Amino acid sequence: MKSKRIVIIGAGAAGIAAATRLLESGFENVLLLEAENRFGGRIHTIPFADNVVDLGAQWCHGEQGNAIYELTRDLDMLHPTDEIEGDFKCIRSNKEVVADVVIDRLRSITSNLEPTQQKGLKDYEGSLGTYLTEAFWRNLQPLTDVDRVVAREFFENCKKMFSSMDGADHLFEVSGKGQHEYLDCEGDLHLNWRDKGFRSFLCLLMKADQADAFDLGLLNEHIQYNARVEHIEWQSPTGDIRIRLWNGELILADHVICTVSLGVLKEIHQKLFIPPLPLVKCRAIDGLKLGTVDKIYLEFKEPFTPLDWPGFSLLWREEDLVELRNTGYYWLESLFSFHRVSCQPRLLQGWIIGQHARHMETLSEAEVFDALLWLFKKFFTSEVPTPVRLLRTRWYTNPNFRGSYFFRAIYTEEVKTSSSDLAIPILDEKDGRPLLQFAGEATHPHFYSTAHGAVDSGWREAQRLITHYLDHNPHLEE
Ligand SMILES: Cc1cc2nc3c(=O)[nH]c(=O)nc-3n(C[C@H](O)[C@H](O)[C@H](O)COP(=O)(O)OP(=O)(O)OC[C@H]3O[C@@H](n4cnc5c(N)ncnc54)[C@H](O)[C@@H]3O)c2cc1C
Repeated sequence: MKSKRIVIIGAGAAGIAAATRLLESGFENVLLLEAENRFGGRIHTIPFADNVVDLGAQWCHGEQGNAIYELTRDLDMLHPTDEIEGDFKCIRSNKEVVADVVIDRLRSITSNLEPTQQKGLKDYEGSLGTYLTEAFWRNLQPLTDVDRVVAREFFENCKKMFSSMDGADHLFEVSGKGQHEYLDCEGDLHLNWRDKGFRSFLCLLMKADQADAFDLGLLNEHIQYNARVEHIEWQSPTGDIRIRLWNGELILADHVICTVSLGVLKEIHQKLFIPPLPLVKCRAIDGLKLGTVDKIYLEFKEPFTPLDWPGFSLLWREEDLVELRNTGYYWLESLFSFHRVSCQPRLLQGWIIGQHARHMETLSEAEVFDALLWLFKKFFTSEVPTPVRLLRTRWYTNPNFRGSYFFRAIYTEEVKTSSSDLAIPILDEKDGRPLLQFAGEATHPHFYSTAHGAVDSGWREAQRLITHYLDHNPHLEE
């Protein structure tokens, strides 16, 4: 057991969770192959402005049953929803700030439309977009004094926000009944890491010193960076699994745990696995979906008003939208809000989704910067100071991710597949040995799209190997 060669592809949350659990359980020959030159994957904390920002996962979503919360609960690492995360203002594209009383009334409808709380979705065959649209306009009916034009602009913005939570390009491709597969962990859904970032959790898992950028704790000597895997030959007469890296290096293994994102699997699975994966697995890779959600951080010289609001949503008037779509700034339509960031008084964080996010990723930083200055001029009466720095994510363009996180689509239901199909391991026909295992957020049946789902999935696959060896060598248990 000690000497079994276990190769884990990807040093994101799932890979790190699997590797640390295996090492702590007595396996010694564990190697993580990571294509990037860092660990963390879609958890990526970097120094910025007054301390750090998270380019990927940012909040710990919930407490009960959340592996991340449970590991950190007594360590004073996670903090309740920040008070700056209050209600956003809504500004229209004619610079009008919509009155709070109007927004409160509209929010009273949308807060009851939280997708995971909709009992009516259980057997709903249509898309989440259709369901929410019908529910919104139905619930608006009694509010006769609310301006329908503003209500429409508000709801358009909400749909983008809901899409970003799901990780979908738009809500009309998201499965309505699929929402019930996802489980919220009870408790605070926006626990934050203050000035330490999500990376501090990975350091805890690895037992690494967070202050030392090079310390990998338990994983010292167990991670190989810049190690992009090109091929995995998982059936050979000798029983070895042969892993070929981009530079030609060959690595032999007894077990492989693949944690690369669904986006990467979609793009390369046909050439990554030799022979190709079984049909059930190919159908899962095709049928599960992921979209693009990107962040934009703007650093200002000092905190300023009126942007000392918790945040603001951008409501486009129909006539301004028609005009916008005829300009080079058309992609700004999908940039739906900005908000403040915990412990970062000089930052604004924006969110953009879908096709327009992918277009934004192709632009130069200067082009994105100019577009944002134009946007602020369009929406604000007072002059917004020029930011000193801009930072935007490119989760789709990066070939090691190819998108943000998994969601259940209408198409997923049509082809009758699920995260569980993606998670099924491929076993050796002769002795039942797990040859190829799959972990990562998209393989979690209920906590997909989250960092705690990724961690759970890594532990699940580590446990599969531990159980395999215990079953074959019961004396090991003592
Ligand atoms: C913008 C954004 C915001 C998010 N916000 C939150 C949040 O607030 N809370 C939350 O819980 N979750 C959030 N998430 C989701 C969370 O980040 C992910 O679910 C989780 O980090 C995924 O971990 P993973 O290990 O499954 O995959 P990954 O982190 O993608 O790890 C896979 C690793 O495989 C590597 N790899 C890929 N291809 C190869 C190859 N061929 N060879 C070798 N290595 C390869 C990649 O470089 C990567 O490091 C967010 C994600 C994004 C993108």
